[in-house]
Amino acid sequence: MTGIRVLLFAGFAAVCLLTLWREMVRAVPADQADRAKEFVANHVARLRPLEIAASRAWWNANVSGKAEDFEEKERTQNKIDEALADPQKFQEVKAIKEAGGLADPLLAREIDLLYLSYLEKQVSPDLLKKMVALANKVEKQFNVSRAKVDGKEMTDSEVRRVLKQSKSSERRQAVWEASKAVGAAVADDLKELVRERNQAARQLGFPNYHALQLHLNEQNGADVLHLFDELDALTREPFAAAKAELDKKLAEDCSVKPADLMPWHYHDPFFQEAPAVYSVSLDAPYQKADLLRLCTDFYQGIGLPVADVIARSDLYEKPGKSPHAFCTDIDREGDVRVLANVVPNEYWMGTLLHELGHSVYSSKNIPAKLPYLLRMESHILTTEGVAMMFERFSKQSNWVERMGLTVEKPAEFDETARKVRRNQLLIFSRWCQVMLRFEKSMYENPDQDLNKLWWDLVAKYQLLKKPAGRNQPDFASKIHIVVAPVYYHNYQMGQLFASQVHRAIARSLFPGIDPRNVMYNGNLKVGEFMKEKVFGPARTLPWNELTRFATGEALNAKAFALDLQAN
Ligand SMILES: [Zn+2]
Repeated sequence: MTGIRVLLFAGFAAVCLLTLWREMVRAVPADQADRAKEFVANHVARLRPLEIAASRAWWNANVSGKAEDFEEKERTQNKIDEALADPQKFQEVKAIKEAGGLADPLLAREIDLLYLSYLEKQVSPDLLKKMVALANKVEKQFNVSRAKVDGKEMTDSEVRRVLKQSKSSERRQAVWEASKAVGAAVADDLKELVRERNQAARQLGFPNYHALQLHLNEQNGADVLHLFDELDALTREPFAAAKAELDKKLAEDCSVKPADLMPWHYHDPFFQEAPAVYSVSLDAPYQKADLLRLCTDFYQGIGLPVADVIARSDLYEKPGKSPHAFCTDIDREGDVRVLANVVPNEYWMGTLLHELGHSVYSSKNIPAKLPYLLRMESHILTTEGVAMMFERFSKQSNWVERMGLTVEKPAEFDETARKVRRNQLLIFSRWCQVMLRFEKSMYENPDQDLNKLWWDLVAKYQLLKKPAGRNQPDFASKIHIVVAPVYYHNYQMGQLFASQVHRAIARSLFPGIDPRNVMYNGNLKVGEFMKEKVFGPARTLPWNELTRFATGEALNAKAFALDLQAN
């Protein structure tokens, strides 16, 4: 009996002690750093397998195009969204962030980034569902909608072919107008979507969706606008001059006066690409080349080998496969792959250099000792910038010749390539001005006359004439406004980053050479520079701190403007 009593007592005491200990843990706040570490560890344990599964599913869906692969892709993405929508977890990370005082900068950075990831998903589930449904509805309309001319439907590429080749202004106008019809079909839904997105932003404490999206990406409207104003001032005159030269040729092609050129006289529906008006073909040197071998040699030569990436990649056209190109880091442990549809021409040379540029800025070259959450590029604009920096070489004759290819008339190739490159940078930058300023203004005041806002900006920044009497929602025919909102400015900021990093490399490794002629071929120090100054800090540094670390200056438009100079 006594024995049992002792046992009972011991058991009772143990329960009491346990309760007391639990009370103590609750009353005394756990050490901040421990709490943060535990949150991060718990998050990574739950999310990492989901993220790897989502990356694999995304890859499979794009390679096969099969419905079941797309379903799996959606399922895995939904699981991630569900995990991040957990309101309790959000409160936890918010409390840790607000308490501050984390001495370990990496841990503090992880908490800041996690806070933003959870914040994005804290919209009320009903509203979130409505937004997803509406965005899907509009996206589907884009997928099924075809330009219709004289009762005949045209595919996207047929529209582009007419705009590239037709010499008839009437035909161009009809096709261009037809390509805008999708805008009128989706405009009401898009405006409703904008209102819902703004409502979501207000739920999270932001004045509008534009401000929210910038905040989630560690940017703010005033800074971005300041940068775009600087860029505007530096590109206004060179753009006007380049456009005047192009206009002369475009007008000749259609037998009209330059002053009578209309938006349909350019080679794509938005004048976001450089019209191909030159007689020298940049494709010629590439037509018999092995583009993959060229890439392997080039990247090997600068100390950033990509043979393993190429071996894992899916590189040629096949049925069902996505016609685009992308690079993905599946597991942040070196499983990096590229999807492409390689054809031997200049476009694919540039695209391969671009995607493989993403591939070297990945867990292949980011220190493995960094924690999972920080083992990725600093920002979308910095990885786009690196990719664009390498992409530019396909239009540089000394690079082409150094790669062992024959350029028939190097002086002519160079002159054309330089003009095409400059025109591309200028035209795209002016187009990005329209996109940034339109989206910002639209989310700030969705009830204004958006048709007018769009054409005012197109006239001001792209120097295009609004067709007389036209009052259509032409902005709504740009799919990015629906599927990739508040994103476009990052492409342009990536271009600024590309120019700035390239000039930092030129300064430190190729002194005395005009940066516009610098090619990296065979210089292992380029790889060292990239690893140390650009890839190494990974996500431990926000984008602008990384820019300062890599180039000595905050992101600005000066280097980009120098790259635009013709001589
Ligand atoms: Zn890219």
